[in-house]
Amino acid sequence: MDYQTFPQKLKALRKQNHLSQSQFGEQVGVSNRAVSKWENGESMPSTEKLLRIATLFSVPLNALLSEDVSPQVHTAVEGMPSLKELYRIGSGPSSSHTMAPQRAAEYFRIKYPDADRFEAELFGSLAKMGKVYHLDSLIRETFAPKKAVISLRVGEDSLPHPCTMRFCAYSGKNLLGKIEAYSTGGGSFRIKGEELSQNESVYPEHSYTEIASYCEQKRIRLWQYAEEKEGSQLWDYLSEVWKAMVESIESGLSEEGVLEGGLGVQRKAKFLYSQSHIDESAETRENRLVCAYAFAVSEQNASFGKVVTAPTCGAAGVLPAVLRYAKEKRGFSDREILQSLATAGIVGNLIKTNASVIGAECGCQAEIGSACAMAAAALGELYGMSLNQIEYAAEIAIEHHLGLTCDPIKGLVQIPCIERNAVAAMRAINAVNLANFLSDTRKISFDLVVKTMYETGRDLSRVYKETSEGGLAKLYL
Ligand code: SF4
Repeated sequence: MDYQTFPQKLKALRKQNHLSQSQFGEQVGVSNRAVSKWENGESMPSTEKLLRIATLFSVPLNALLSEDVSPQVHTAVEGMPSLKELYRIGSGPSSSHTMAPQRAAEYFRIKYPDADRFEAELFGSLAKMGKVYHLDSLIRETFAPKKAVISLRVGEDSLPHPCTMRFCAYSGKNLLGKIEAYSTGGGSFRIKGEELSQNESVYPEHSYTEIASYCEQKRIRLWQYAEEKEGSQLWDYLSEVWKAMVESIESGLSEEGVLEGGLGVQRKAKFLYSQSHIDESAETRENRLVCAYAFAVSEQNASFGKVVTAPTCGAAGVLPAVLRYAKEKRGFSDREILQSLATAGIVGNLIKTNASVIGAECGCQAEIGSACAMAAAALGELYGMSLNQIEYAAEIAIEHHLGLTCDPIKGLVQIPCIERNAVAAMRAINAVNLANFLSDTRKISFDLVVKTMYETGRDLSRVYKETSEGGLAKLYL
């Protein structure tokens, strides 16, 4: 949906932020009658009030005023896509910066088979990180053998989305068509004006509360809910996902040396895996192995290897590490692992649908926090925990990542990303242990913490959202 005029944009932003006209008026310092007039187009705010509104909603002023630019507005959620949209098998290191633009370019190339030339413009975080991720060559290769001109538009801040891309197709001098698309995390993309066009809505429910109540009524578990909505072919897909996760761990454990990119980061998975001490405690061993598996996947990701988005490439190590260790320790069958992947997928899908799993939009809390919540839910499923306990485990996992910034040094998905996957995997195990005992005392719902994460992400300065302009990226010399 496009919001072209100022009154439309104002109303949409106010509703998106769950403010009544009088609550909004209070924050801006006017009466609800004045707000009503602005929204009806009967009057316009003063410049001072406009600046206040832009600050309140964290949108650039010209995105409020210009009819060519839409502020980022979350439209009403109508359902959730398939888990196939969430779990994608592909090459790292960044699902939102490499996979999604490539997929969008591929979509556009197929849409205009008669084009002899394409143009792609990348904005925001895509432009900023484009060189690091070789995005210009990746897109050029996607359009090959057709000619393609790729432009990285660094410095254009008034964007509808932090990962915006525009594509044009030409035949000779004739423009055949154009699209504007946004990378929405985990390799997915959305085309302006085509809601859910890439991801047909498969799940009518879109909150944990609704889903849990549905499952309780039917006396089914979350994985059965996923099977009911997606059909039995879901298991074939998840089987491929699990296979790719195991392969990424194995490949990562077999590699040594220094990762590319100039930071001199040593691969550590194999070292961690092979260490052992005659007096090693069970806890130390668990910590070492879970971390080794998380390092293995994350190091594969950092070296452009094959991983599964769970929910993104940058956070791809958390879920496989926890599942591999649980399988080894407790002997869970592959079937049980697939069921736990389905449960984790529902949790990831809820976050992706209602908030964000993209570092460039909401910081690392959206990537690693979401991965931790997915891993906690998966483990809860394997342990046969109740819907309430699984909810609590996922809630704890994400709550204690709130505010986590994204500040990868040199834009490489290495520091702090690799180690962070290992820490989050351990945290997921802790969250499950805590939820096992304390779920009856829970005060915060999963849905609430997801909403909080999104609000927090919007309040984070852009320098902490995959721009490599703040935090470690700024201070590391
Ligand atoms: S800091 Fe977190 S969100 Fe940012 S690139 Fe690394 S893993 Fe992804």
